Formats: sequence, C-alpha cells, structure tokens
Amino acid sequence: MADLYEKVMDVAKRRGFLWPSFEIYGGSAGFYDYGPLGTGMKRRLESFWRRIYCIEEGFHEIETTLIGIESVFDASGHLKCFTDPIVVCKKCGEAFRADHLLDGVRDISIPEIDKLVKSSGVVCPACGGELGDVEEYNLMFSTHIGPGSKRRGYLRPETAQGIFTNFERLLRFYGGKLPFGIVQIGKAFRNEISPRQGVIRLREFTQAELELFVHPNDKKHPNFDRFSSKRIPLLPAPNQIKGEDAVEMKLKDAVENGIIAHEVLGYHIALCWDFLIRAGLDPKKLRFRQHLPEEMAHYAADCWDAEALTERFGWIELVGIADRTDYDIKAHALKSGKELKVFCEYKKPKKKTIVDVRVDMGKLGPLFKEESSKVADAIKKLPKEELEKDKIKVEVDGKTFEVDGGVVEVVQREIEVKGEKVTPHVVEPSFGIDRIMYTLLEHSYYEDFVEGEIRKVLKLRPKLAPIPIAVLPLMSKPELIDPAKKIVHEIRKSGFMCEYDERGFIGKRYRRFDEIGTPYCITTDYQTLEDDTVTIRDRDTMRQVRVPMKEINKVVHNLILETWNFEKMRERYINI
Ligand code: AMP
Repeated sequence: MADLYEKVMDVAKRRGFLWPSFEIYGGSAGFYDYGPLGTGMKRRLESFWRRIYCIEEGFHEIETTLIGIESVFDASGHLKCFTDPIVVCKKCGEAFRADHLLDGVRDISIPEIDKLVKSSGVVCPACGGELGDVEEYNLMFSTHIGPGSKRRGYLRPETAQGIFTNFERLLRFYGGKLPFGIVQIGKAFRNEISPRQGVIRLREFTQAELELFVHPNDKKHPNFDRFSSKRIPLLPAPNQIKGEDAVEMKLKDAVENGIIAHEVLGYHIALCWDFLIRAGLDPKKLRFRQHLPEEMAHYAADCWDAEALTERFGWIELVGIADRTDYDIKAHALKSGKELKVFCEYKKPKKKTIVDVRVDMGKLGPLFKEESSKVADAIKKLPKEELEKDKIKVEVDGKTFEVDGGVVEVVQREIEVKGEKVTPHVVEPSFGIDRIMYTLLEHSYYEDFVEGEIRKVLKLRPKLAPIPIAVLPLMSKPELIDPAKKIVHEIRKSGFMCEYDERGFIGKRYRRFDEIGTPYCITTDYQTLEDDTVTIRDRDTMRQVRVPMKEINKVVHNLILETWNFEKMRERYINI
C-alpha cells in the first residue's frame, strides 16, 4: 500500500503542485519544479512569510546575487568548512555520504569516519562493492566569472552572506543604529552528495532568512511579553542525550532557566512557531530541537531547529534558528579590511581618565637629532612607573637612549565618553521554504469516505490555497453558466484567483477541488434564477449555505483573508 509520501506526491504530481525536473530526460536527483498550483501556493506561503517578517515585524527585504565571488566564501568559511564526507564505490562508481552509512555518527573527523567505514566492513549499498577512501567534499557549486578560468565564482549556499557583505550600507540605511534586521527570500544551492529524500533534500532550494543585528550585550527583546506565556514543545540538548521527547514549556521559563540562551532567540523561536501554525502545519507534529554540542557550529552561541514529523522521513528540519554571534561580520571585516562596527551610545556618558604623556621636543631634538621623534614615541608607550623615574631609558631599533625625567610631563585628565564601537551579533532564523511546502501538503492531506468513495482532501488554509474559490454551474446549461461566469469575473476583478469548471457531475467536480485544497466552491443552480442566490460549499464539512449574489464579493473577501470562517457563514446565511 502506498505510504503517505507516495499519496501526497501522487496528488502533487498529478494535479500540478510539484514534480521532478527534467523528467523527459529521466530526471536528476535533488531537482524539483513547481507546477501551476505549487507555484501559486509557494508564492502565497512566501507572501505570508513577508507579511509576518516584513510588515508585522518591520524588517526590510533585499535581493542580492545568486553568484558570489571567492573572497566572500573564503571569509565566511564555506570554502574550507562547508564539506561533507564522501565515499565512492570502487565497483559501480556511486557516491555516498560516508557518515550516513554508519549508525549514529555525528561530526567526527574525516580520518575517523574513514577508519570506521573500513573497520565496520560497510559495502556499497547500491551494488555491494568495496568502498574507496573517505574524502572531504565541498558542497558549493562552482563556476567561472567572465571568460577564462581565473575568477572563480560560487552559487550561494545560503542567502545570508549577501546580507553580511552589504552590512555597511544596510547599517547606514537604518540610521547607524542597532538593532536592525534584514530579510531575503531566494534560491540557495548545495551540491548534496546523494539526495535520496525526494523533495526534502534538494540541490537547489528556496530559503527565507532573517539576519537580525543586535548589540552583543543586549539580547533582550522589547516585545518578549507577546509570547512569554506561550507554551512551545522544546527538546533541549540534555533531554535528547537522555533519550527523552520534547516537552511543552512556557517560553518565559525556558529563557529564565537558561534553556534558551536569551530573549531575542526565544522571541524568534515563538515567532517561527506562530508562523508555521498559522500557515497550517499540525501543532502536534512540530517541535523545537536544540543542537547538541557537537552539532553546533563552532561560532554559534545557541541553535534550535524547528522540526516537523513526517511519515516517511521522521522528524525533519524546517527552520534553523541560531545566534551566530559576531562570527560572520568579524570574518568579513578581517578579509575586506573594512571596519564593520557600529557606534553605540551609552545610556549615560561614562567618565574616563586618560593619561597624556608630553615630551619636551625642544630638549630632545638637539640630543637625538633625527632619532628624536622615534625616541619620543617610544617614551609615550612606557608604563607610568617608568615615566616617574629620574632617568628614563628606552630602546629604539636596538639602541638604548637615556633621558632626564624632566623632559617628560605626565598629565591625567578626565573625559566624557559617549559610547563605543561594537561588532554586532547576529540572530538568524533560516526557513527552508520547500520543506515547509512539502510538510504543509503532508499535514493537510487526509482521506474520508463519501458516498461509497474515497475523498482525497488537502486541508490547506484559505490564504495558502492556490485556488481559493471555484465557481461551478450545477449543470452545463446557458442559464446557469451565465451567472456563474459573471461571478468569476467579479471575483477575479477584486483580485482573487478563481477557477471556473462546468465539466461532469457536480459531486465529481467538488472532489476535484477538494483534492487541490480549494476551501470554497460557489454553485449556481435553478434557485439562482428565481432569487439571485448561490450556494457556497465548505470543503472540510461539505456543508452549504445560500448567499445573495450581491454579497458574494464581500463574503469571498472575508473567507479568503480568513476574517470569517464557515461557522460565521452558517450564522449569517440560510443553511441547506
Ligand atoms: P541551514 O543553513 O543548513 O541551517 O539550512 C536552513 C534551512 O534550509 C533548513 O532548515 C532547511 O529547511 C533548508 N535546507 C537546507 N538544506 C536543504 C536542502 N538540501 N534541501 C532543501 N532544503 C534545505
């Protein structure tokens, strides 16, 4: 019997959500195309993400290049460290991720994996042949920029670097002040070794990322109260080690007890939860898992993955939420030679005592001639105790110079310091849009039994359904078609996608729209000709109400934007 993945993918391929790319040439693992309905749904998911992150949270969006130059990935560490261990079969030439051939192996060195592969006697899973040596394999796709092969370029493995490299300009855009956040939605590319998990592990996929730049010593969130009493299923690292399941915890308790490192991270875990649930994922199949110490990137202060339960693949990572500290910005500052810092004013200016060392050049000049300014500089660097001696000795270029203490005057003064320059820390929620798309399809899919037949349903939220409304004349008769087409025209004019279908029995048509997740169908029938009313059918309950034609636009608007649900419709209109 087909498992849930097969059932969902059957609907996805047959009805135009998504399918393997290049199918006419036999396909290529790790590449999927979105069909007309999948593209519509993906755009809606991205718009909903923008609604939360750009409109509600107020972060601006940018669009940076897909190709990056070598310096970017040299600085970010991707050239050296963005690697997986690879092993190739000596007999059939198939490549595998070496650590995936071993049980429970995480983040150990290449020689250690090689040793384990050899000692455990693992053979090629494809042909049973002997495996070669385990090697390091960089996951970035490389290319050349311009003619010749001198300038290497790479397809970006994450959208984040485009934001970090624009840090100076973005800081200026935000008036030079922390905190500020920038988002980007776009393609990322990873040349995965052997992507065998269908749409879950792709070589080209879409990320939606936020890079939030915060003061390193201020990781409180001004709106933390919004979520502080929210209960979220968390699986902290120590509990995983003990083999425990996720437990629901109040966000406030998790932050106060140090389970989640700080408020900003906690707020973004809750915001991510809110987004995923409002998008339509099953809350019982969602959890946040903290990275184990050996999984955590060496620079990360804390990292949590939003994971969803799927039938075939178990728990899969949908979103990574990490405190990346100042790692990226410092790395780009070092490589580019730019000072990527922010001047932060103190709440109150601080008093600071500074010591001025004045050297009497009138006396030093005649003594040491052209060497005098070097001697003066060396004197200024001496510790205070040395400067207080009667005779002061300094070494310059291997030569010792001695001067009378009288040529030096040490003056202490107090100044007011308004602030300091800091390298910001970055908190990053990174969403994998394709994995969320698949999980939404799987979590929305169900079958029930109606009139002796299996009814397949995608219970998509109205705001994400690619076809939120369909208009169906009860029969293919001109007197019913005319008002139906008029309604389609009206709905489309008001900016909503609306499908028209007059083919076959009405029951079969309803099933077709249930299967692609259309939440509401409008039907014109003979009563329409008498009293100008139409029926609206709810996908999930299959119940119907009669609504006056002149109210259709208002009703459709409220149903699609989810300001009304069908219960409300049943209160307002005639139930049938
Ligand atoms: P990462 O930068 O590895 O934390 O990835 C961020 C998010 O991108 C993950 O949570 C996934 O949802 C998604 N992602 C990473 N790698 C892939 C892949 N090969 N295919 C599809 N989605 C991916």
